[in-house]
Amino acid sequence: SVRVRFAPSPTGPLHIGGVRTALYNFLLARKLGGTFILRIEDTDQARFVPGAEDYILESLAWLGISPDEGIGIGGPHEPYRQSERKEIYKSYAQKLIESGKAYYAFDTSEELDAMRALFESKGSAFQYNAVTRVKLRNSLALPKKEVEQLLANNTPYVIRLKVPAKGEIRFQDVIRDWVHVHTSSIDDKVLMKSDGMPTYHLANVVDDHIMQISHVIRGEEWLPSAPLHILLYQAFGWTPPQFAHLPLLLKPEGNGKLSKRDADLGGFPVFPLEWKDPQTGAISKGFKQEGYLPEATVNFLAFLGWNPGTEQELFSLKDLIEAFSLERINKAGAKFDVKKAQWFNQQYLKQHGAKELAATYLPSLEAEKGEAYVHLFLDRITFPQDLLSMVEDFLAIPDSYDADVLASKWNSETKRALELLLEILPSCTSWHADDIKQTIQQRLETAGIKMGKVMQLFRVALSGKGAGPDLMISLELWGKDQVLARLRQALD
Ligand code: GLU
Repeated sequence: SVRVRFAPSPTGPLHIGGVRTALYNFLLARKLGGTFILRIEDTDQARFVPGAEDYILESLAWLGISPDEGIGIGGPHEPYRQSERKEIYKSYAQKLIESGKAYYAFDTSEELDAMRALFESKGSAFQYNAVTRVKLRNSLALPKKEVEQLLANNTPYVIRLKVPAKGEIRFQDVIRDWVHVHTSSIDDKVLMKSDGMPTYHLANVVDDHIMQISHVIRGEEWLPSAPLHILLYQAFGWTPPQFAHLPLLLKPEGNGKLSKRDADLGGFPVFPLEWKDPQTGAISKGFKQEGYLPEATVNFLAFLGWNPGTEQELFSLKDLIEAFSLERINKAGAKFDVKKAQWFNQQYLKQHGAKELAATYLPSLEAEKGEAYVHLFLDRITFPQDLLSMVEDFLAIPDSYDADVLASKWNSETKRALELLLEILPSCTSWHADDIKQTIQQRLETAGIKMGKVMQLFRVALSGKGAGPDLMISLELWGKDQVLARLRQALD
């Protein structure tokens, strides 16, 4: 059965690329009737950031990416926080020691630094591997007695994987196809640190095995670790899961990878929710707080690296589940397109009822009025919270008038027309957009004035601006008295 996991490290706010990884895992699980697991990889105590785990949970909940098993839910493999599973990793590391696939290394960091410096002085890079390990302080190089003594004395040690000197590691990535790496390019990686904590590699592989993960779907930045993970599976005698390494997210201009350090892309958020750094207090913007709707965010993220193979662009989470497949994930990096994200938001905004938008974003207005404003401005906004400032702006009496329109449209004839409008409008018996329009049209025509010639100037006289929403509906919403007052002010 399909079992996938999202395994973030709580080292800060979840990056939008991480959210995409979670989304793809979720989609595959739902599509194939599998299980989506949320596991927290917090073995690196030095990088632990308080609040980050809650942030991950809140972000996924906001987007509707709901795990079936794991943190916050529970399940057959509890606990799902790696820091609470130390004993498990210790016992598995021990198994590798016993089978000769791993060994104790007692080298101090000073010794290793000195070794590194020595290699560098000769123009090469130091690798702790089959070639060098024989000259270092570890249980493969030292006499057995000495090793026993060191262990008995509680000498600090790490446990390293004994990477074979010769051999090729091959695996077939779902997205990248065959990957070949020679073992000589891989160090004898540390599996257990001297503080008794496992490294990411050991904990990750052990948990993926125990939790019976069928597909490891993760970012391309983990591709270089995959051969080592394959070696670990081999060392344990386990069958590795399928790997699928997702394409990188690139900066909007395609100039390099989008990273966590791009906390702000020219004002564009790269985090799902707003994040306040617990140390510096610095605030990073979030999609949610910027006014992105969860449906729009999900749809946008789904398309960063995947496509349905059709022209269709709007996909609800349900549609995505139906359409999703690993086969349609691209190899090439996906550009983070701000304009596209905004377009998606506009589309989903329109799917929300005017009633609901008015109640949420224009709560101070009478319901009917609020809805009318939503209809008037819906085509002109990207974010729902822009509604209020649009309405405020609309209701403000103009204090200046568009100079370009005045320069091109203001003359004695058009001035006459505006004066005529000031005479005509009070006689409108019904103040509804259609009726107002009809009255204006008829009376101007009788006076021999083309409506098209004066409407932009009329708009400027009423609003100060050369462009805006539907003018007749605007008149209706301003109300007769307000329209007459504005027109008088303009003609003054
Ligand atoms: N803990 C790793 C991360 O933070 C997980 C990588 C993986 O999925 O194997 O991304």
